[in-house]
Amino acid sequence: MDFEQVDAYMARVEESEQVIFKPVSSKLKVGLDLGTAYIVIVVLDEEDNPIACEKQAASVLKDGVVVDYLGALTIVKNLKAKLESRLGVELTSCAIAMPAGTESSVRTHEYVAEGAGFIVTNVLDEPTAANSIYQIQDGVVVDIGGGTTGLAIFKDGNVISTEDEATGGTHVSLVLSGNYHISFEEAEKIKQDYKRHKEILPIVKAVIEKMATIIGKYVDKEQVDAIYLCGGTCCLTGIEEIIEKRVGIKTLKAKNPFLVTPTGIAKNC
Ligand code: ATP
Repeated sequence: MDFEQVDAYMARVEESEQVIFKPVSSKLKVGLDLGTAYIVIVVLDEEDNPIACEKQAASVLKDGVVVDYLGALTIVKNLKAKLESRLGVELTSCAIAMPAGTESSVRTHEYVAEGAGFIVTNVLDEPTAANSIYQIQDGVVVDIGGGTTGLAIFKDGNVISTEDEATGGTHVSLVLSGNYHISFEEAEKIKQDYKRHKEILPIVKAVIEKMATIIGKYVDKEQVDAIYLCGGTCCLTGIEEIIEKRVGIKTLKAKNPFLVTPTGIAKNC
């Protein structure tokens, strides 16, 4: 897929939150993404066409590890039930993914999925899942989620190294909350309102530059010619320009970077 196709594909995934698309056949592929800030389920058909998707804010994981099993289970059951009622079919199996470096906690992720009624068909690492969408051979996939900036360096299509450091969307919201003298929850709302991105970007620029510094620390400009962004924080309008300027490497992001990893997980179900 070239980048325009990736954009169009991800736009369709985003649309599938509101609209149900008709699958080519009855076999459905499901991706369950258990995140620190959000839990997301994406449903694709056999040919990877987006069919439906649901998400819910959550704080049941810490550093990629489930810390509130019952809370996670309740949310996954709820999202699964919502999708099943929208689709009119039962979702029986799913793929899941682990953030790099948390592979030893895979059983807990599996218990959550299985407890909600899924058979887990595949366990991926998150950068590989994201790269199922970008399909890069050589380059860097950067995932900026709720708590951290993570990056995976790819060579010949395989992950050769991963890094993860604190600084993510939570830090962006904390800066906004302090700046506007509002609660964290209100800051989150403002941050997720695309109409206010132009206004808030100068306020949160220093946090984004910190993320760029983390990326720059691990990426060699001589060896890497493009950075591909994913993760909810990359929804911020203009984040790619700040990173590109600071790191000095061409930086690209798909239409809805928030849904890149869960969609990549679904593709591998
Ligand atoms: P982590 O990767 O740290 O485990 P996660 O997988 O839950 O967390 P994501 O779901 O990729 O992370 O991203 C969550 C973050 O994205 C939150 O901080 C949220 O506020 C932010 N976010 C979501 N939508 C938007 C938006 N439209 N604009 C800006 N930020 C957004």
